[in-house]
Amino acid sequence: MSPLTIALSRGRIFDETLPLLAAAGIAPEDDPETSRKLILASNRADLRFVIVRASDVPTYVQHGAADLGVAGKDVLLEHGGEGLYQPLDLAIGRCRLVVAARRDFDYASAVQRGARLKVATKYVRTAREHFAAKGIHVDLIKLYGSMELAPLVGLADLIVDLVSTGKTLQANDLVVVEDIRPISARLIVNPAALKLKRDAVQPILDAVAAAARRDA
Ligand code: AMP
Repeated sequence: MSPLTIALSRGRIFDETLPLLAAAGIAPEDDPETSRKLILASNRADLRFVIVRASDVPTYVQHGAADLGVAGKDVLLEHGGEGLYQPLDLAIGRCRLVVAARRDFDYASAVQRGARLKVATKYVRTAREHFAAKGIHVDLIKLYGSMELAPLVGLADLIVDLVSTGKTLQANDLVVVEDIRPISARLIVNPAALKLKRDAVQPILDAVAAAARRDA
């Protein structure tokens, strides 16, 4: 059988995922922060890692190019979650998805007036659903990073972004005007892999779930 493949992305989620995988007896052979390899062997002959962009993790798992993956709920909401099981909240990479604006922008009165608002975000789908549910008219502007800049240079009235400590917003004179939802990383599984490779997949799910519960 083909090796079990786990899709991970570099950065904060990777660092926080390693101890959970270690609890399942799994460790990568190379350090992805220093290795340029995109396929990393593990301490188990039947298991490997693929290192992909965070927003691509659901795509690899959905199409079965990876059996398992770790992705932020922000990324999963934007992807839509089609063709994925999301059995485990790993309680890592915790932050909030929020709407933010310049300190001097009066969001409440703009909403009351029924103004059409410009929203810059990486999370176009999630933002569209959020504002539609509130009956707020928005023009969405897709960005790939540094969302905090958009209100400062007149590109947008609002941003939808992740906030952890709040320091980035504060440094740029922005404030949270609305909370959308809490975010954390999830273990995701390809449904066919769960059926066909259950003997290999289930023990990993169980051990990671137990470790995540211990840390929560
Ligand atoms: P902070 O200054 O700690 O509030 O962090 C805010 C910046 O870090 C923003 O640019 C966010 O997009 C990013 N960020 C915060 N938390 C996360 C997370 N859990 N995953 C990915 N990016 C994050």
